[in-house]
Amino acid sequence: METVSLTEFQSKIRRVLISEEEIREAVKKAGAMIDAEYDGRPILLISILKGSFVFLADLCRAIHVPCELEFMVAKSYYQGTQSSGMVQIHMDARADLSGYHVIIVEDIVDTGRTLNDVTKLLSTRNPISLKVVTLLDKPDRRVVDFKADYSLFTIPDLFVIGYGLDCGEMYRNLPYIAEYAEDAE
Ligand code: 5GP
Repeated sequence: METVSLTEFQSKIRRVLISEEEIREAVKKAGAMIDAEYDGRPILLISILKGSFVFLADLCRAIHVPCELEFMVAKSYYQGTQSSGMVQIHMDARADLSGYHVIIVEDIVDTGRTLNDVTKLLSTRNPISLKVVTLLDKPDRRVVDFKADYSLFTIPDLFVIGYGLDCGEMYRNLPYIAEYAEDAE
């Protein structure tokens, strides 16, 4: 493990893109929307790790209808821009989703590959319904035709960190979303 000085760590945070306050408001709104849509029906939130853990923690507390939580670690494999159709599951959610309205909770939709494959996989497990909520969407980077049902923020083609999103496993604990400065000394 390399040592990183505080100055070096901070110099990579170019600017705050989405503030804590803006995130708080948007998460509250997303929670209210889920409450209204799933009133009285059991829902299962499936968080795709690791990036979505902070968003999931806040979103589940903004939801007041009965809900359960699951976690999944998934990676998609592509040849060029073509999906191999293979999603490698490093940690899986339950095999039988029947009886649940499932909501996949993701940090960011970039190329769309991961969620394209994960939604295909989970839809074979008989959920009553399956939707995707993502904190961030980078539509300019899409290589597969995938659209989340609800995205809290649309951002330009920038590499972002914070609020669960990392660079080399750091910066996940920033309370806001920031642009990462690759070229900063
Ligand atoms: P996909 O390309 O399959 O849509 O996204 C896969 C994963 O890439 C995301 O879940 C996220 O972990 C990572 N990713 C994509 N864009 C960014 C970004 O701007 N910042 C960070 N930290 N991760 C990203």
